[in-house]
Amino acid sequence: MRVLIVEDEVEIARNLRAALAAAGMATDIAATRSEAEAALAATPYDAGVLDLGLPDGDGLTLLRWLRGRGCGTPMLILSARDSLEARVAGLDEGADDYLVKPYAEAELLARLRALLRRPGAALGRILACGGIVLDSISRAVEINGVPLALPRHELALLEALLRRQGRVVTRPVLLEQLYAAEDEPASNALPVHVHNLRRRMAGAGATATIITFRGLGYMLRAP
Ligand code: CA
Repeated sequence: MRVLIVEDEVEIARNLRAALAAAGMATDIAATRSEAEAALAATPYDAGVLDLGLPDGDGLTLLRWLRGRGCGTPMLILSARDSLEARVAGLDEGADDYLVKPYAEAELLARLRALLRRPGAALGRILACGGIVLDSISRAVEINGVPLALPRHELALLEALLRRQGRVVTRPVLLEQLYAAEDEPASNALPVHVHNLRRRMAGAGATATIITFRGLGYMLRAP
């Protein structure tokens, strides 16, 4: 899961990032409307959290721009504007949800999960293939019924492969799912994660395997 946080207040942005990271989401932060537009144009985010009062314009303008170009990325407005008119305007401009600051972290995460569950976004809470079961909300993995603890990047890798099982997932798509924009993964990071994940899957007796397509990407396949 990769989420764009559009927020100009550094401390709020930092807290949001920490909360989302703890829930297993990779995040990028945009502090201005123009930064957010550039990020949204360049990256297929799974969702966005959008502040309305931005230094170079209004979050509603950003929403109008986003929906105007046919982008359906789920967007949750997180704003101190608490009037009924503001909430209606936000939803009318194409926001999927609206939460008023100060917010409760648990509620924000629950609402984001609800957006991510919608058809057309990331499909399905329980992902399964060849003895592997991943609960995309609790982040728990079981192989043949036995819980398996996975490091963060391997968990993100497994989720991305499970969501597209039986199809080749390209390297850029996987890297996008695993790393935020300012992370600079080593050039061999992906093969190393794949190697480690394969080893753990085999060790736990999973019958699904990760197949390498040289120069292209990887596929998770059931036997
Ligand atoms: Ca603001």
